[in-house]
Amino acid sequence: MNITTTTANTLDLIGNTPLVRLAGPSEAAGCDIFGKCEFANPGASVKDRAALGIIRDAEASGELQPGGTVVEGTAGNTGIGIALVANALGYRTIIVMPDNQSVEKMDTLRALGAELVTVPPTKFADCNHFVHTSRRLAQETQGAIWANQFDNTANRKAHITGTAVELWEQMDGRIDGFTCAAGTGGTIAGVGMGLKARDETVQIALTDPHGAALYNYFAHGELRSEGSSVAEGIGQGRITANLEGAPIDTQFRISDEEGLAWVARLLREEGLCLGLSSGINVAGAVALGRHLVESGRQDARVATILCDTGFRYLSTLYNPQWLQEKNLPVFDWLKGREA
Ligand code: PMP
Repeated sequence: MNITTTTANTLDLIGNTPLVRLAGPSEAAGCDIFGKCEFANPGASVKDRAALGIIRDAEASGELQPGGTVVEGTAGNTGIGIALVANALGYRTIIVMPDNQSVEKMDTLRALGAELVTVPPTKFADCNHFVHTSRRLAQETQGAIWANQFDNTANRKAHITGTAVELWEQMDGRIDGFTCAAGTGGTIAGVGMGLKARDETVQIALTDPHGAALYNYFAHGELRSEGSSVAEGIGQGRITANLEGAPIDTQFRISDEEGLAWVARLLREEGLCLGLSSGINVAGAVALGRHLVESGRQDARVATILCDTGFRYLSTLYNPQWLQEKNLPVFDWLKGREA
C-alpha cells in the first residue's frame, strides 16, 4: 500500500479509505471478501463523503454562501460529517434529531459545535417529524441550506465519483460483486452505478436489515417490511431520490443476530471494532460470495462497506444490559460483566 503523502487541506482526508481483505468472511464465503474502511474517515463514518459532496454541490450552485448555515435532520453520522466539514469551511451547522436518540450522539454533535434541536419522535407523516422540522428551520434561517441527504443526489454522486472509483482501482479492476445496506441509499446506488459504468457484469446486491421495505421491493416489486432491527443508519421504507435507478441485481435479508455475529468475530479475530450496519454488510457479502461461488465463480472477489466505528455504540451494542433488553445475544467476552 502507498503511504499517504501530506495533504494540503483537512477535507482531503475524507475518502481514499483503505481496503482490507477480511480473513474470516473470506473463509466462510469460499472466496475473497474485502471491506472498505469507511470508519477511517475524519468523522469515523461513510457519511463524511455525503456531507462533503452535498456542501460542495450547494457551494457550486451558489445556494450556500460564505458564512452560511447547513441544516439537516439526522440521528447521527451525517450530522457529525456535516459539522466537521462545515467547521472546516466556515459554516454554521444546525442538526435536528428525535429526542430518543443515544446520549452519545447528542454529546458528540454538541462537542463538535453543532447547534442541536431535539424534537419528540413521531411518524414521517406528522409535520413535526425531525426531517420536516429541519426543512422548515432551513427555510426560516437566513443564509441556510437544507442538506436533504435522502433526496439530494449530490449524496450518491460522492459515491459514483469517489467510493466506486477507489474500489475499482484498489481491486485492480477485478471485482465480481459489491453489496451494502441502504439508509439514504446513496452508497449502494452510487457505488453500484460507478462500478457498472466500468464493468456491467459486476453483481450489485442490496443487503437489507429486517424492518426495512427494500428487500421485498427488489425481490417482489412491493414496498413491504417485516420484523425489526436495532441497526442504526440503515433500513429504508421508500424509494428515495438517491435510490431511483439503483442497479440492483439481487438482494439478501440479514438479521441483527447474523450481523452481530460478524461484529463479534471481526473484533475478536481481526481486531476491527465496528457498528452493526458493518456486520450486516459483511453477512451480506458472505452471502453474495457464496452465491457467486455456487454459480461457478470460485475466484470471486466481493467488496462491502465497513460503515462506522464501534466506539460510537459503547452504550448499546457493547453494553450487555442493553443487548439483553433487546433480546439480543451478549458478546461472549462481555458475559457476566453486567453492572
Ligand atoms: N451505516 C451507517 C452506520 C450509517 O450511518 C449509514 C447512513 N445512514 C449507512 C450505513 C447507510 O448509508 P447510506 O445513507 O449511504 O445508504
